[in-house]
Amino acid sequence: MRDLIVAGNWKMNGNRQFIDEMMSGLNKAIFSESVKVVVCPPSVYLLDVSQKAKTVKVGAQNMYFEDGGAFTGELSPSMLIDVGCSYVVVGHSERREIFAEEDVLVAKKVSAAVRHCLTPILCVGESLEHRNSGQFFDVIARQVKIGLSLLNAENFADVVVAYEPIWAIGTGQTASPAQAQEVHELIRKVITELAGENVSERISILYGGSVNAASAQELFSQPDIDGGLVGGASLKIDEFIAICSAAA
Ligand code: PEP
Repeated sequence: MRDLIVAGNWKMNGNRQFIDEMMSGLNKAIFSESVKVVVCPPSVYLLDVSQKAKTVKVGAQNMYFEDGGAFTGELSPSMLIDVGCSYVVVGHSERREIFAEEDVLVAKKVSAAVRHCLTPILCVGESLEHRNSGQFFDVIARQVKIGLSLLNAENFADVVVAYEPIWAIGTGQTASPAQAQEVHELIRKVITELAGENVSERISILYGGSVNAASAQELFSQPDIDGGLVGGASLKIDEFIAICSAAA
């Protein structure tokens, strides 16, 4: 009923040679029809990746919410569509922490993406401090509520949510399947309260944080985990393909 999605976030990695190799590997891979595979390269390579991609979808790692104008260094939703994107990662914890993006800005980006028919992958997740203090449910519920706050409830299903505990990103310390499932269930419950079960049952919620070929299957088999947002392991072609297969 829900889309199964595996998205690779290449972050600020790669060059033209890497892209040639990755895209030729991805184009040769046979993915199950039940999984949507997305790659999110650095923005300078989006057009090249889109032109090379045969089966995978392309996503940007960030965008601005305005349609155009004096916003030096930024990319608009229509520019992303123009270069072949169908997804955009919004509110990644690295954007929130390093570039001081706050929930309200994230909400504007989510709403602009939906308005332009780009699927936003709205990232939420707690710090280690919030995990240890037991406040993580409140933090995540707030991020979800504000992130979706500028949408009409009927558009919530146009959004993909990614639960990415900050303490698991790039650390090799994956959340256990039970820890991840607990939070995914909470996120779905928050969305049910806002928009009803009909909507919340249609939203794909991805897990991200040190997913690799060994951990993917058990994580993705949890009832509320609908695939993954994968960082480091998405840079290794064989491992990324194995992770995509684990979602099928
Ligand atoms: C990410 O940055 O979205 C991510 C999940 O990274 P990693 O898989 O490397 O932890």
